[in-house]
Amino acid sequence: MSKVTGFLDHKRVGESYDPAEARTRHYKEFVHGLSDGAAKQQAARCMDCGIPFCNNGCPVGNIIPDFNELVYQQDWRSALDVLHSTNNFPEFTGRICPAPCEAACTLNFNDDPVGIKSIERSIIDKGWEQGWVTPQIAPVKSGKKVAVIGSGPAGLAAAQQLARAGHDVTVFEKNERVGGLLRYGIPDFKMEKVHIDRRVSQMEAEGVTFRTGVLVGELPVGSTVTSHHVTTISPEELRADFDAVLLSGGAEQPRDLPVPGRELSGVHFAMEFLPQQNRVNHGWEGQGQLLATGKHVIVIGGGDTGSDCMGTSHRQGAASVTQFELMPMPPESEYKPLSWPYWPYRLRTSSSHQEGGKREFAIATREFVGEGGKLTGIRTVRVEWDGNKMSEVGGSEELLSADLVLLAMGFMSPVASVLDKFGVERDGRGNVRAGTDEEGGYVTSVPGIFAAGDMRRGQSLVVWAIREGRQAARAVDQYLMGMSELPR
Ligand SMILES: Cc1cc2nc3c(=O)[nH]c(=O)nc-3n(C[C@H](O)[C@H](O)[C@H](O)COP(=O)(O)OP(=O)(O)OC[C@H]3O[C@@H](n4cnc5c(N)ncnc54)[C@H](O)[C@@H]3O)c2cc1C
Ligand code: SF4
Repeated sequence: MSKVTGFLDHKRVGESYDPAEARTRHYKEFVHGLSDGAAKQQAARCMDCGIPFCNNGCPVGNIIPDFNELVYQQDWRSALDVLHSTNNFPEFTGRICPAPCEAACTLNFNDDPVGIKSIERSIIDKGWEQGWVTPQIAPVKSGKKVAVIGSGPAGLAAAQQLARAGHDVTVFEKNERVGGLLRYGIPDFKMEKVHIDRRVSQMEAEGVTFRTGVLVGELPVGSTVTSHHVTTISPEELRADFDAVLLSGGAEQPRDLPVPGRELSGVHFAMEFLPQQNRVNHGWEGQGQLLATGKHVIVIGGGDTGSDCMGTSHRQGAASVTQFELMPMPPESEYKPLSWPYWPYRLRTSSSHQEGGKREFAIATREFVGEGGKLTGIRTVRVEWDGNKMSEVGGSEELLSADLVLLAMGFMSPVASVLDKFGVERDGRGNVRAGTDEEGGYVTSVPGIFAAGDMRRGQSLVVWAIREGRQAARAVDQYLMGMSELPR
């Protein structure tokens, strides 16, 4: 244990943020990591619990008490090794993970949790700064070829693990750049893309081949799913050329809101809006870019994607930004004796919310209203909830002005046409059917084809995608070699 009285001596101190007024003038990251001294002090708060609930709460199983101890000792190099032993990309999770480990931390029961996420970020940022993150090239090649479809966190984690196990890995990505939702969904102000580029260089040096602009299978006509492909490859060709295939194409089919007026110009999916700004930040000239500038923007959907639409709209100079949520406002804080160590149900206020705009809860959209085919407003009604039953509040209809509506109500499933071309079974929600057991996990109904990440589990989190990528890599390795030394 780092310091026996650390949790009594030191309060939790978080990372600092640039003021909203300054940070909304650009798209860069605005959160400043802890200094070495501050990280040491925060690590000192860890009680090195006999049963570390943090470790159970973390989907990749980060060995948190051990790296806290090492940071307290200022043995950063060893802390980095511990961190990398369970997580290929701590710089991603150290920035954008909602940190279920902190909700689970024992100290969170009656105090503020250990600042695990900020410590994680300090370790990996130092690792990159010091040049300690280098390619780990497999000493022996297996001669086996693996195709990974999709370069989101699941595909990247799997590809890195498989290359390190000696396999010849090719990642196929339909978009122009690697990274999946890390690249095109998550705005730069939450995570700059240099973090992905550095990992891509590391992975290339480890022997991974990236083929971008290549769509595997086909998309339905009129699909709004982001795709910059210039060529396609059929599942049959892939199966003939590779010994195993991993499907990690995400859950890209957005949930729609089929109310009257949906066809009006000005009503768009969030994923038509967010990727464009990320592309402009990285050199796209932005012809015909969908912009919030000067517009009254309504974001429908109260989650992460909606909050990212708000932050991007603020930066583009929207006239007003309002976020709608169908559910009632959650309590400001949780009742910890009931919720700990689980993820608590409470109001989440993101940095984008702090930058301005309004949030409306328990509100439903009846109709989009327009003139000459163009959106001018949105007709709403307030709703009440009795358990799971929703009813409209009589006389609460309103007509609000809107020039841009962004639909951020989550994702239904992967794109079915791609899965159908592979002939893999789907579950009741339309995701690829595959379990996660140690034996036979991540295997689809077609031998030699595996699935991981949002494509298997449905829309989720980056940290779950990394976990699934790592575990699926082990399953593929076992299939190819009869055994695997990759960690699970
Ligand atoms: C706007 C937004 C913000 C988010 N913010 C957070 C956050 O702050 N923290 C967090 O933890 N999670 C966040 N998430 C969720 C997180 O990004 C996803 O859970 C995660 O990226 C899923 O990883 P994945 O690898 O399974 O799929 P994805 O990241 O979706 O990657 C799939 C990739 O496969 C490619 N692909 C699909 N089909 C094909 C094909 N047929 N041929 C070739 N390529 C194909 C796609 O182009 C894509 O690049 C957010 C999601 C969104 C949409
Ligand atoms: S639960 Fe909290 S206090 Fe206990 S080991 Fe984990 S980080 Fe440290």
